[in-house]
Amino acid sequence: MNIGFSRGTAASTRGCPPWACGDHGTVSGAATCNDQAQQLHDRGHGGSYLPERGFGGYDGPARVVQRWPVRLTCRPPGHDESRALAAAGRAMRVHHLNCISTCPLGGRLMDGRSKEILGRGHLSCHCLLVETPRCLVLVDTGLGLRDVAHPHARLSRFFLALLRPEFREQMTAVRQIQRLGFQPADVRHILLSHLDFDHAGGLDDFPHATVHLLARERAHAARQRTWLDRQRFRPQQWSTRARWRTYPGAQGEPWMGFDCVRGLDGLPPELLLVPLPGHTHGHTGIAVDTGAGWKLLAADAYFHAGELDASPHCPPGLRAYQWMMELDRDARLRNQQRLRDLARTAQGIDIFCSHDVAEFERLSGRSARVPAAGFAMPD
Ligand SMILES: [Zn+2]
Repeated sequence: MNIGFSRGTAASTRGCPPWACGDHGTVSGAATCNDQAQQLHDRGHGGSYLPERGFGGYDGPARVVQRWPVRLTCRPPGHDESRALAAAGRAMRVHHLNCISTCPLGGRLMDGRSKEILGRGHLSCHCLLVETPRCLVLVDTGLGLRDVAHPHARLSRFFLALLRPEFREQMTAVRQIQRLGFQPADVRHILLSHLDFDHAGGLDDFPHATVHLLARERAHAARQRTWLDRQRFRPQQWSTRARWRTYPGAQGEPWMGFDCVRGLDGLPPELLLVPLPGHTHGHTGIAVDTGAGWKLLAADAYFHAGELDASPHCPPGLRAYQWMMELDRDARLRNQQRLRDLARTAQGIDIFCSHDVAEFERLSGRSARVPAAGFAMPD
């Protein structure tokens, strides 16, 4: 299938290649895949990209990236997801990328899973790369190359101390996209949930992409009204401002009972903005119809999977953090309740937020500390 944009030159393989999965061809081999992925990573095959040296001393991503075993879950023999999507009249493949973890003070009080409360916790920054029939679309960008190279010039001292991001270049969106075998220039569109520094830092790495966001988000962030606004919204990350396309509010039919923005400029109808204000005034979720079900990245509308349970719960430190960061408490809590209702009643929707590591690992099938696919292998 000609999908209209270029990939790396590496050999493509379908399903799980033998080196990634000793139990090739069996559905139950997912754990084997993940274990081996982690072992490859631990041996330096998975996470040591340096611009000057390539992956682990090999010549660079074009030679080493394996294109298709993107999901480490094994498929049964003969399974071909692309063909199944094409048969359904659509071809939207979604890759889950954690674009730089943060390590907040408060340990288990923040993530609910670290051993200690005096150490640092672990939160993800869950982004999506969507293969549409015509181009690549990135959903949120995490922290980017310039943040990794110059954190103190780009980010506030307050958040650097509080969250201590893991500045690993190979976890930036642009490097993971290269590892998947794509050209970053083929990312023509970015859908942005909001302008907090940990979501917008990668914008600069895609200077030719059109950035879609809500008008209210841009207006509020640019105003830089309060001290906290100036710490969280960082104009240093906005070099692509001339390519931002903003939307005043809902347009088109509601989605699952939520107001939404349909008909995004230059994008297929399977991609929608679903405004979820509260965390920030122009905060929005992003919904993707993959052809095999919907995915809704609810971004920072909630922070912990337990908040969508029938009896909602959240580690206390994380609850306090959300309280500190919210710009409209009523709207935030109301939207959380609506998401809870949606999770309970709707079929065939994956709902997930940006910062819950367990959600990321469940959906991506790999450790949040391992970059996407493309394990470096010798020729
Ligand atoms: Zn966030």
